[in-house]
Amino acid sequence: IAHASQTALASTAAERPKRILRNFIGGKFIDGGTPFDIFDPATGSVHATAYEADRAIVDEAVRAARKAVEGEWGNMTLAKRRALLTRVADRIEERFDEFLEAEIADTGKPHDLAHHLDIPRGAANFRVFADAIANLSTETFEMDTPDGGKALNYAVRKPLGVVGVISPWNLPLLLMTWKVAPALACGNAVIVKPSEETPSTTTLLGEVMAEVGMPDGVFNVIHGFGPDSAGEFLTSHPGVRAITFTGETRTGSAIMKAAAPTVKALSFELGGKNAAIVFADADMDAAVAGLARAAFLNTGQVCLAPERIYVERPVLDRFVAGMKEKAEALLPGLPNDPGVTLGPVISEEHRGKVLGYYQLAVEEGATVITGGGIPDLAGDAAGGYFVQPTIWTGLPHEARVCREEIFGPACAIIPFDTEEEAVRMANDSEYGLASSIWTTNLSRAHRVGKAMEVGISWVNCWFLRDLRTPFGGAKMSGVGREGGEHSINFYSEPTNICIKL
Ligand code: NAD
Repeated sequence: IAHASQTALASTAAERPKRILRNFIGGKFIDGGTPFDIFDPATGSVHATAYEADRAIVDEAVRAARKAVEGEWGNMTLAKRRALLTRVADRIEERFDEFLEAEIADTGKPHDLAHHLDIPRGAANFRVFADAIANLSTETFEMDTPDGGKALNYAVRKPLGVVGVISPWNLPLLLMTWKVAPALACGNAVIVKPSEETPSTTTLLGEVMAEVGMPDGVFNVIHGFGPDSAGEFLTSHPGVRAITFTGETRTGSAIMKAAAPTVKALSFELGGKNAAIVFADADMDAAVAGLARAAFLNTGQVCLAPERIYVERPVLDRFVAGMKEKAEALLPGLPNDPGVTLGPVISEEHRGKVLGYYQLAVEEGATVITGGGIPDLAGDAAGGYFVQPTIWTGLPHEARVCREEIFGPACAIIPFDTEEEAVRMANDSEYGLASSIWTTNLSRAHRVGKAMEVGISWVNCWFLRDLRTPFGGAKMSGVGREGGEHSINFYSEPTNICIKL
């Protein structure tokens, strides 16, 4: 049985019936699968039911996607494909409030944050890649041949075919569309497996695809978990040519193994343990404001967030005092309550992990400057998965808390005396995603920016994103780069044509 749309939404969360999130395959929501609960992290209540796709449903999704690539979608003109992508962006904006409500229900994040970041970027991703695909040339080389003549080489881009997209829960719509948009711009069909914690906006995007007239099978959604569930069925499927994944490094490693027998193309955006460096010559107010935002935005659940902040000794006390003031000014609470700036973490289980690190920090000798526990909240928020923003000093750089990704609103502040020492400690990590350096010395900005063993080095800023630039991680933080032409290169198969003239 096909369903034209999901359950209609009522105006307030209390009145709203539970969302029913079905698998979206071949342009329709289909019956089948095993139901599982989706929790609202701000209250701890169940707000939706999703249906876990079994192997047969994943097979069906791959068949539908294959058919789309071989059919109307694969033969569509570039102009029409771009117009459809632009229409998807328009439609996300027209249904902005529904996307906003769905994202907030799944994540519990403050209304303002989802309003300014998650949903607009979801739409922007489709516009950026609709443009990118139109404005990139391919290579041409004329060569001399042994007989004294010439040959002409030129490359053409073709789609890879069926692409599996596996996305995490921290920025659900933003990170999923970051991959879906370029994959579709290149003419692929996608099967998306959103996080089991946050499947609502991906499901809503299925409705949007049907509404704008996207051909059936171009965009498919399968729900479920990782091992022995929809995630693994997708990553090991012989009909899937490429996997693009954002999530934990350990999961990336499992996906790499599952994809190995069929040698799929892989693009991985993985975990981090990002360092920030504050030099004594920095604009201190800007550094405090910038790094407090970086450490605590989205309750610290941003892969780019600095969990280790190295501060030049003369400004240490001032920096710590400034960060403490900012952390204590954050207001935890329900997403739509006025003034709320700090949401919950994603789940009960994740809260347990974060609190485990809060405990470990004390055991490893930390001085807790602020936080370290659970905030005292009343009403519905009392059932939510909140933790206090937390700052530590006095931890050795070698402590586990300073080496392992916590993915919560917490940072360790560690002093340094020389630039070399700061660079060495920042780079002493198995991860290499991002760094944020604060200095007014121009030469040092360039020098230290380049010395960081990371995919993205910010200077006097953090999370400023030009979507045309390369994005990804060094070391165990990723494989490959996406963004602008880097995405187009990953999601397409170049064929070089060599013609003897
Ligand atoms: P996760 O790895 O637990 O899950 C991500 C996705 O992978 C989910 O959809 C999950 O169901 C799926 N999955 C899990 N096991 C799988 C398996 N064996 N096979 C196939 N799929 C599987 O990550 P998460 O907890 O959702 O997200 C947080 C992590 O993501 C953090 O480590 C964070 O640093 C990272 N992250 C990285 C970036 C980046 O751009 N580098 C961005 C955001 C988040």
